[in-house]
Amino acid sequence: MSVKTNPICCLCENMCECPYGNNPQPLRKKGVCCGHCNSTVILVRLGLIRWELAKYHIKNLKILYDSYMNQELELISKEDKNVLEL
Ligand SMILES: [Zn+2]
Repeated sequence: MSVKTNPICCLCENMCECPYGNNPQPLRKKGVCCGHCNSTVILVRLGLIRWELAKYHIKNLKILYDSYMNQELELISKEDKNVLEL
């Protein structure tokens, strides 16, 4: 009769508190992690989500800025045309 032990955490190498452990992705692709390391894994996942959101907002801000600048350039060129026509 073998005694089943909990898995070893792939991040800190301590024994996990439960027989299943936690998903360590994105810090490790294989293995399981303990509950203590899992709190760090969760923070990394949240950080990645925030980074993706930040990239999305930066892209949209650039589109808004570019369209604003294009309007400004059009207004300037219209004024220039008016000056030239006078
Ligand atoms: Zn750990």
